[in-house]
Amino acid sequence: MKSYDLLLKNGNLIDPLNKIDGSFDVAISNSKIAKIAKSIDQNASKSVIDATGMIICPGLIDLHAHCYGYFASIFPDEMCLPFGTTTMLDAGGSGWKTFDDMNEKVVSKSITRVLSLLNIVGSGMITDKEQVVSDMDPISTAAKINERKDLLVGVKVAHFEANSWEAIERGRKAAEISDTFIMVDQNPIKGRSMKELLLNHMVSGDVLTHMYAWGKPIINEKGDVEDFFLKARENGILFDLGHGAGSFSFSMAKPAIDQGFYPDTISTDHHRSSLLSNHSNMPNCMSKMLNLGIPLQLIIEKSTLSPSRVLGLPELGHLGEGSEADVAILKIVDGEFGLIDNGLTGNRKLNASSIIENQLTIKGGNIVWDKNGLSFSNYENTPKPDYGSIY
Ligand SMILES: [Zn+2]
Repeated sequence: MKSYDLLLKNGNLIDPLNKIDGSFDVAISNSKIAKIAKSIDQNASKSVIDATGMIICPGLIDLHAHCYGYFASIFPDEMCLPFGTTTMLDAGGSGWKTFDDMNEKVVSKSITRVLSLLNIVGSGMITDKEQVVSDMDPISTAAKINERKDLLVGVKVAHFEANSWEAIERGRKAAEISDTFIMVDQNPIKGRSMKELLLNHMVSGDVLTHMYAWGKPIINEKGDVEDFFLKARENGILFDLGHGAGSFSFSMAKPAIDQGFYPDTISTDHHRSSLLSNHSNMPNCMSKMLNLGIPLQLIIEKSTLSPSRVLGLPELGHLGEGSEADVAILKIVDGEFGLIDNGLTGNRKLNASSIIENQLTIKGGNIVWDKNGLSFSNYENTPKPDYGSIY
């Protein structure tokens, strides 16, 4: 009798919560992590994957992506599973009026675990509606979140263009009533500064996304991280990468990272434009952080454990025995690569000598992506057709 369904052998396990970074075998049974040990007998498992030379880590958690309500949104499984992402947060695609539709058509149909931030705009992320203050109802937004706390974790405030704090204030109120947080994407404009946003309108646990966007400069004219970013971090504001198609600039990220201002969470802001122009999937964003000097273990932490804490899901983001068997098997690939940024000034490139690639994704104990057939036997094992019954 086999004790395990699946055994990952000989990989380098990185599990920041359990302070593991070394060669360990990982056994999975009934959708849970059954055992972690230096060596587990392969005869005890129904199937075995040799992960020699690869990194085994918790399934990646993307804290900012788009799967609904936006013309460039992408169905979750296509956007996540090939890239090792097993959990994603839709950042405000739906509002209180449209979430049920999103749940029926997208969330409930996905293999990927999809959680959502409710847009403060009742109609969701529809460009011409995002400016309509009368559609920003904190009471109805909070009521919907409270109704579906299993799927809704907070409020999104984004793209409001008026010289006013109305959108932020209404979003903050909805978060306060529902005891959740706001994720904010607001470029500074005259009369509505980043300093005031970070220090006067956001509270501990709120998330600023697009932290290295050229349009929200974290770096001042002298080349230093702005004091109010440092102060906001001290105050408990969280900073999210939120790469996207116009919100990640190496010219901001490099000096900020050199000065130790790392993201709290690494996320993609994945949608069609960012996928096509910047390839900003999770391993791509992680590769950018690696080439800018953040240590690999920290990169894994900021792509797994840290976002699980923001989502309030302690069963995710680590591979302790008994935890959910959401796993990514990654590989560092050496060669000549170009990593591409974006922003209001156009695209630029960072030459890189190594990148992170996803090889295999496991969601709830099931293999849902296998780039190089690690889990399959050689084609020569294919049985012959039953010629007798065909002819
Ligand atoms: Zn976004």
